Amino acid sequence: MERLQKVMAHAGVASRRKAEELIAKGHVKVNGKVVTDMGVQVGNSDNIEVDGVPIDREEPVYFLLYKPRNVISAVSDDKDRPVVTDFFGSVKQRIYPVGRLDYDTTGLLLMTNDGELSQMLMHPKYHVAKTYVAKVKGVIYPTDTRKLDKGIVIDGKKTSPAQTRIISVDKVKQTSIVEITIFEGRNHQVKNMFMAINHPVQKLKRETYGGLTLEGLKPGEWRELKGFEVNQLR
Ligand code: URA
Repeated sequence: MERLQKVMAHAGVASRRKAEELIAKGHVKVNGKVVTDMGVQVGNSDNIEVDGVPIDREEPVYFLLYKPRNVISAVSDDKDRPVVTDFFGSVKQRIYPVGRLDYDTTGLLLMTNDGELSQMLMHPKYHVAKTYVAKVKGVIYPTDTRKLDKGIVIDGKKTSPAQTRIISVDKVKQTSIVEITIFEGRNHQVKNMFMAINHPVQKLKRETYGGLTLEGLKPGEWRELKGFEVNQLR
């Protein structure tokens, strides 16, 4: 048995606090009866409805995918391009990606049906460390990456400090490889950060997410997270 608001949050209906509001305001029914009491516990067979719509109570599952290039981080695409859920044909649960990697970005993407964890990880105040390796145009110097480490203004808002490491520079080809760890997840953030210092990204790969790595996986492969790995993300 679990508390009603926790089950609702897990199902992705709302955050726990919002779920409590929905309960208090009489929007939630358990087995056909309106419930406004916060202490109510529900079991697997109880039927829960929010505004008359039954909530989806799949068991939460968690996967780590090595996303290849040219795949959309979504469950469907109106242009019929490959999407990340295509790799999970054998998984019955309705999973979706936690955040996004760009179409041409490769690397680590979490997939789950746990709405609560997903909302929490994507919340701006929840600073998950994400490490990327970027191939950028031009020869990059510490004076450039220091700007990213300090934070840089993008769309009128300063990025939180990043941690960068120059891995190599190729003076002949005029390219550089840089590792960068960021603790927030704005749209196209890494590309925009390098663009802001005039070193456009040519290739991008996410190597880690909240301490998880791609170890043992090839592009297009995935594995289920272990219980302790899920706990480590919370
Ligand atoms: N930053 C980007 O610019 N693109 C990604 O796919 C991920 C982070």
